[in-house]
Amino acid sequence: MSSSQIPVAVLGATGSVGQRFMLLLDNHPWFKVIALAASDRSVGQKYSMAARWVLDTPMPDYAKDMIVVPATTEAVQAKIVFSALHSDVAKDLEPQFAQAGVAVCSNASSYRRAEDVPLLLPEINADHIHLIKEQRKKRGWSGAILTNPNCTSTGLTIALKALDNAFGVKKVMAFSMQALSGAGYPGVPSLDIMDNVIPNVANGGEEEKVEWEPRKMLGKLNGGSMDLADIRFSAHANRVAVTDGHTVCASVELASPADPEAAEAILREYCAPASARDLPSAPRPVIEVRSEVDRPQPRLDRLAGKGMTTVVGRLRHDPILDLKFVVLSHNTIRGAAGGSIYNAELLVNEGLL
Ligand code: NAP
Repeated sequence: MSSSQIPVAVLGATGSVGQRFMLLLDNHPWFKVIALAASDRSVGQKYSMAARWVLDTPMPDYAKDMIVVPATTEAVQAKIVFSALHSDVAKDLEPQFAQAGVAVCSNASSYRRAEDVPLLLPEINADHIHLIKEQRKKRGWSGAILTNPNCTSTGLTIALKALDNAFGVKKVMAFSMQALSGAGYPGVPSLDIMDNVIPNVANGGEEEKVEWEPRKMLGKLNGGSMDLADIRFSAHANRVAVTDGHTVCASVELASPADPEAAEAILREYCAPASARDLPSAPRPVIEVRSEVDRPQPRLDRLAGKGMTTVVGRLRHDPILDLKFVVLSHNTIRGAAGGSIYNAELLVNEGLL
């Protein structure tokens, strides 16, 4: 490890999101993975034995012989931990790390709604990271918990931010088609999903997340808390037989109605705030707009901008609301591991580690 690299660890390293972390942290310019943690099932084994690798890029060499440790502050001595834990486990463990002075970049939903916890997509709300100053004061810890949103809200909220800045967004109807990797590994049984579409993703909870989380991210930092955006959301969440990449069809009511061409120009030109623009994981571009009538598609478009770019297409007039479009985002890259790493880069860049 070079002296300038920051030691980091992955909690839940063997799972669907954990594996993405391992790939994205391979040769990261700022971070060096020094520990991997998972459940009792995996502890004590080499990572190559404990993780049933499901990604199409091979397991990185650095990870193969690392021994999986328990997810405790004693076993994991890092400055930043990336949490790919389920929310019930994260709820207890993440505060223990923050209390021990560690910055926790979490994918779990446990603290997304907490008033003093930033819910971040740096390309749209980098300033919200300053909530952790209030968090540290209130909770008396020197570490921090920062979260990224659920993977279905991710691309949708990025597109909405550009539209909200330009025209004001009042109402959103969103219909998701969510990939299998979003359900973790082994996820949905094949006999349930083959030849099928399953509504009510994750037995409930997903639609409520899509109806609430964007309001926090599109809201305004008000001193030590958040004012939620005054936007009404209605969401339908569906699981489909796609491996990676969540597609959302959205219809939007705007405060100042705009034609599709004007909306397209706004989306194409959207730039991240200066503090988040040049970070190693920043999406380049933030939003790609496809002009073909049948794009975006998950298989063709999910790796735009190395999986960090939000892809929008089919911008057209909505006869009930104002505008409708399709948005695609890679759920385990921009919607999970890549997003968390981007948050950690912002934390370091803002001098808040
Ligand atoms: P997953 O594939 O089921 O992986 C869960 C991981 O947690 C495994 O590494 C597992 O280790 C570990 N684990 C389980 N119990 C543990 C314990 N008591 N202590 C320590 N580690 C434990 O799940 P996932 O899809 O990666 O999701 C992880 C988190 O990210 C969830 O909160 C999810 O909601 C969120 N998220 C997922 C996505 C996505 O697209 N998948 C997107 C955004 C957010 P073993 O292998 O040893 O059991």
